[in-house]
Amino acid sequence: MIKVGLTGNIGSGKTTVCRVFEMLDIPVYYADAEARKFLNSPGVTGQLQILFGKNILDAEGKPDRKKIAGIVFRDKERLKQLNDIIHPLVRQGFESWLQMHSSSPYALQEAAILFETGHYRHFDKTILVTAPKQVRIERICRRDGVSVRDVEERMQNQSDQSALEKLADFTIHNDGRLLVIPQILRIHEQLAGTIS
Ligand code: ATP
Repeated sequence: MIKVGLTGNIGSGKTTVCRVFEMLDIPVYYADAEARKFLNSPGVTGQLQILFGKNILDAEGKPDRKKIAGIVFRDKERLKQLNDIIHPLVRQGFESWLQMHSSSPYALQEAAILFETGHYRHFDKTILVTAPKQVRIERICRRDGVSVRDVEERMQNQSDQSALEKLADFTIHNDGRLLVIPQILRIHEQLAGTIS
């Protein structure tokens, strides 16, 4: 089973691209969604309280994601500590999930961060989805109903796309001009070993 990591900056179209791979019957593990689930698991809640203090829980006793995001956004050490709790769980979750999809020629993991953490080394191949910054901003404003300023703030800590492109095995240019599906099909053919 070939393990493929798929990443891209905010609004590049990672999820949209993954939905196309799913239409081709390729299983996709959404790492960020899984990480959010782990954040709410009982074992993790205790660790988060130790790391961030008792006030990190909301009225329902669940970790307050907004508060956590606010802290780790400005504090790299805290972000690393949070990742040290969550990332191993996501990795283990992915390995168990892979076993359920062993008949597929390859499987994808979608993750917002792949190269920055060195996590890409756990994959046989990597795919980067790119789009110009202006296009990404417009997409997120439209999708999330937020302001340009909000999006730009979320983008602050993101890596430069051209630097990531050098590390990725494949790049999908989702700029709204180039057709995306033929690009996906070309990669699919290579990964599935069905080049005609
Ligand atoms: P995030 O980083 O926030 O998770 P993402 O990289 O997964 O975002 P998507 O959610 O796939 O990006 O796409 C962002 C928005 O842009 C969505 O509303 C999606 O429908 C739209 N979008 C993505 N690609 C295209 C495209 N080629 N043409 C038009 N709209 C697009």
